[in-house]
Amino acid sequence: MEKKVGIYVHIPFCQSKCAYCNFYSLSSNDGGDLLIPSYSTAIIRHIEEYSAQLDGYLIDTVYFGGGTPSHFGTSRLIDILNVLKRSGHVLIDSEITVEVNPASISKEDLIKLRRAGFNRLSIGVQCADDNTLKSIGRTHTFADAVSTFADARQAGFKNLSADIIYGLPSQTRDTWAQTVQKVAGLKAEHISCYGLKIEEGTELFMFKDSPFLPDDDVQEGMYLYAVDILSRYGYKQYEISNFARRGFESKHNMKYWLGEDYIGFGPGAHSYVGQSRYSFTEDVNEYIEQIGLGRRIVEHEENMSDFENAGEYLMLRLRTTHGISEEEYYNIYRLKMDFVLELMHKYEEHGWAAQKEGRWRFTPKGFMVSNTLIGELLEAQTKQRTQISKPWQKDSTGEETQMTLFDKRPVAAGLFGGRRLVGRNELL
Ligand code: SF4
Repeated sequence: MEKKVGIYVHIPFCQSKCAYCNFYSLSSNDGGDLLIPSYSTAIIRHIEEYSAQLDGYLIDTVYFGGGTPSHFGTSRLIDILNVLKRSGHVLIDSEITVEVNPASISKEDLIKLRRAGFNRLSIGVQCADDNTLKSIGRTHTFADAVSTFADARQAGFKNLSADIIYGLPSQTRDTWAQTVQKVAGLKAEHISCYGLKIEEGTELFMFKDSPFLPDDDVQEGMYLYAVDILSRYGYKQYEISNFARRGFESKHNMKYWLGEDYIGFGPGAHSYVGQSRYSFTEDVNEYIEQIGLGRRIVEHEENMSDFENAGEYLMLRLRTTHGISEEEYYNIYRLKMDFVLELMHKYEEHGWAAQKEGRWRFTPKGFMVSNTLIGELLEAQTKQRTQISKPWQKDSTGEETQMTLFDKRPVAAGLFGGRRLVGRNELL
């Protein structure tokens, strides 16, 4: 049976730089607009050259992210999607998402995108307060977001997602509550709710630890408020930051969290195929130049061991409310998770974890401290592995512990079921 894969297309251009953003993207002021035509040519060539590797895969999700894809130009987005359809087997019922910012796309363009096959929009609303939007460098108002939602519905989009951020400068519990309620009132099918992180190199960094920013306790309260109120509006939390009406969970993002295959195109784009992970050069100029010269653009590559994949299972699935199960873990990796479960029982006592029908998951309170908890769980997993690799030791039942299949299995065969990649993407 052919395997399914998700495709990510990176569009690293924005109209201007937001004060909190440390993603690599070129703004109009950085001269980014001048590079758009040659970038479009490069990424199309990249996808076409990849068509032999896409053969044998059924593409069931496509995600255009950035940057601001809506700033890139509708016809260019459609050209790239069409090249993907020609180069690979894009299933007719694929989830095809594009990120758009309010006020950066017209109704006519939304109609064109819908007709071309895009069927999901991720809209960067961020906040319902115009002063706050201005202070973080957003170039739209909340009224623009409302218009974009209305235009998208009229264009025929039945799957809309809104991004919102808590912990913004001068944001209070009240203004956050208004954002959550107003955005829920837009009746999006999906809402992503992110906590602001002040990163070095951003304009907001100078305000780190300043009283203009809500402190950790206030942020925790904001997050727990969103979880509670969104559930009352019919949005079920399915991941730390993501909430959806039934059946509208992001299929593409679920691939990342469930450890399924995805292939990225564009500078800095990551791929995970078979047991390998790789990413391309992050520099847009270098990406365009190297593609033009037919040179290798892989910057990082890693063949994941089964033990590393087992660690990813814990790390990624515990981001979701689907969580982890002892039986599933054993079936996939032939590993025990006694030490991990000991900790999960401890977390349950603190109200950070819960179990249901053999699956463990973090609670919203647990999600707030999940980085620390996952670090501890990975340590426990390593401890268990050390014990298992000494077969003369006895396990908790008093029986001799066996070497697991994990220790005996050969190193992963490599990308694409053992087929080597060719050309610029060649890994070996
Ligand atoms: S539009 Fe998005 S990617 Fe561009 S600068 Fe703002 S937050 Fe960053």
